[in-house]
Amino acid sequence: MTSLADRYERIKSALPAHVKLIAVSKTRSETEIKALYELGHRAFGENYPQELKEKQPLLPDDIEWHFIGHLQTNKVKLIAPFVHLVHAADSERLLDELDKRAATLDRTIAVLLQVHVAKEDTKHGFAPDELRAALPHWAGRWPNLRVRGLMAMASLTDDAEIAAREFKTVAQLFNELRTMGIFAVDDFTELSMGMSGDLDAAIGNGSTMVRVGTALFGPRA
Ligand SMILES: *Cc1c(COP(=O)(O)O)cnc(C)c1O
Repeated sequence: MTSLADRYERIKSALPAHVKLIAVSKTRSETEIKALYELGHRAFGENYPQELKEKQPLLPDDIEWHFIGHLQTNKVKLIAPFVHLVHAADSERLLDELDKRAATLDRTIAVLLQVHVAKEDTKHGFAPDELRAALPHWAGRWPNLRVRGLMAMASLTDDAEIAAREFKTVAQLFNELRTMGIFAVDDFTELSMGMSGDLDAAIGNGSTMVRVGTALFGPRA
């Protein structure tokens, strides 16, 4: 059995310096999260708004909480006061709601736009063509949001080639959207791609943030 510290060091040492590690702590206890925190880690990712709302006050204030799952508009209020980055903004309605909540709280909320490239219909996000068409209409639309880039999940498959192809599609779209200049180029810098099973494919195709759960903490119950 390897220890958490061993797994953490191994994963970190495999990441290029420009790739940020988000430790996916959904379903993990405060004790498990604190153990990684004690090793110096600060960026954690959660999927369930209610779970995150309950955990956040019990854990250190300097944790950066990333919300990585599908977010329903009626749950935005649970996490809006403290969330560091919303990875999976997947509809205009959700962006409208995030902007409204941010205004109420007098804060700016950072978001990524989720792109749908996987085969499964269950995955959320904007289709690439949908984003290309929509973006020109989005200039200045959400004054309280900071759009930092794109997020994507690859198809669930053992075929690394498929994941690599999907990530490459997202990276090309990312570069294309950057040059449209709708969002400040200095803001639009992040590509959240890659989880335990497809890290290499994501990093090889320009990921700047990987979301890793199982490879760090072990299998989820
Ligand atoms: C659960 C989850 C992860 C982490 O998955 P692992 O396979 O445990 O690394 C990453 N991203 C999203 C959106 C998730 O829901």
